[in-house]
Amino acid sequence: MPNWNPWHGCRKKSEGCQNCYMYFLDAQRGRDGAQISRVKAGFDLPVRKHRDGSFLVKPGSRLFVCMTSDFFLEEADPWRPEAWEMIRARPDVLFCITTKRPERAEKCLPSGWGAEGWENVQLNVTAENQRRADERLPVLLSLPFRRKGVFASPLLEEIRMERYLASGSIGSVSAGGENYAGARVCDFAWIESLYAQCREAGVGFDFWDTGALFRKDGRLYRIPYRLRREQARKAGLHLDGAEKPFVPPAYPPESGGQLHLPAGGQGADIPSRSEEFR
Ligand code: SF4
Repeated sequence: MPNWNPWHGCRKKSEGCQNCYMYFLDAQRGRDGAQISRVKAGFDLPVRKHRDGSFLVKPGSRLFVCMTSDFFLEEADPWRPEAWEMIRARPDVLFCITTKRPERAEKCLPSGWGAEGWENVQLNVTAENQRRADERLPVLLSLPFRRKGVFASPLLEEIRMERYLASGSIGSVSAGGENYAGARVCDFAWIESLYAQCREAGVGFDFWDTGALFRKDGRLYRIPYRLRREQARKAGLHLDGAEKPFVPPAYPPESGGQLHLPAGGQGADIPSRSEEFR
């Protein structure tokens, strides 16, 4: 699961941020996750090329954006236009943006976005509890994005989202528990509830991670890190739904077009801090 983290660090926004994994990992390295900065290496990852001229991020890839920050963070306003230009330059890559700040999305869209947005961008909002689902899903539904999804992770309680799923605009829901220090319980019944709601609405669903503390039928389990995704997969709660497939253009762009790229751009390292979702 390739990530693109053009900026790093964040401000906590809601209940799901309480045990933010980025803060945890930064603290282990003696860093403060509240320090927000544009990254030096990898800012231009989507348009970086190998020496043979091919892109590091292969055509047809799905790239998860800002997994150690939030794409719509106020502090990132000066850096976002350049990020949008790179997204525009790679119509052959699907950029998946997950945010807890969808209320800022509309005013942060680039010129030329159009009434429905670009084909290669998916917007996901995090909904960790009912309060945040009721706050963010109506905003998500109102926004001009062609592809929309929900991350119910870390799932902190049962969430009823039938009325939002019924809109037909949400393509997928992913759900999972919490990891790292202070992880809160995730109850299998909450996952099953979301699965049933998605099945009823014909929406894609994925139970992708049990989290560290998992409750099933009233019994609490401490799941070792290496088994959390495997155990979730074994539950078999997956639905394909009617999500629109991403079909990359037949002839991907040969260059960054009008981009003002930093010097270099050959044989860069792909930054890979973590494979965790936010
Ligand atoms: S990175 Fe995500 S989970 Fe962490 S503080 Fe920011 S919004 Fe919250």
